[in-house]
Amino acid sequence: MAREYAKSLDRLINEFQKMPGIGPKSAQRLAFYIMSITLPEAAELSDAIKEAREKLKPCSVCFNITDIDPCFVCGDKMRDQSVICVVSEPKDMIAIEKTREFKGLYHVLGGVLSPLNGVGPETLRIKELLNRLRDGQIKELIIGTNPTTEGEATAMYLTKLIKPLGIKITRIASGLPIGSDMDYADEMTLARAFEGRREL
Ligand SMILES: [Zn+2]
Repeated sequence: MAREYAKSLDRLINEFQKMPGIGPKSAQRLAFYIMSITLPEAAELSDAIKEAREKLKPCSVCFNITDIDPCFVCGDKMRDQSVICVVSEPKDMIAIEKTREFKGLYHVLGGVLSPLNGVGPETLRIKELLNRLRDGQIKELIIGTNPTTEGEATAMYLTKLIKPLGIKITRIASGLPIGSDMDYADEMTLARAFEGRREL
């Protein structure tokens, strides 16, 4: 095969191509973008990647991505300590925080149940969630998984598991996938979905 790229360009394209949603064309575009920035800017970028990777870790309470432990939400005693919103990924939590509608705590599952992909209850942070529910402080659990088949299955599984504990379980109004790239209008819709949550 003919050599198409300089070796370091090839390496850079390869690295970008490992990222989610980045195909060969986007990887090439990003690599050429890197070639267009200054050396200090490039150093800033590689530094940001290194620092994020070194400093960010899951919160030991809610599993949000954080550089302080517990994270800013778990550490905020002004927040409502009697309600937990369960989400699939940290980005869902960020989306909900942006609405400013919710003042309680979170629990990040780290995915949704997906037996076909080998994701069972033991893969998710369900055991950790149950541990948080044991001290009796939590009065309501809001299930904020996405309205996909897997998100619904996860909501159902959690309901069956937790309902016997006597905790009120609600589901945010369906129809809205959270955590995607949301503009302001979507934030409003998500805020309404929160207000319109129904009891399971
Ligand atoms: Zn936390």
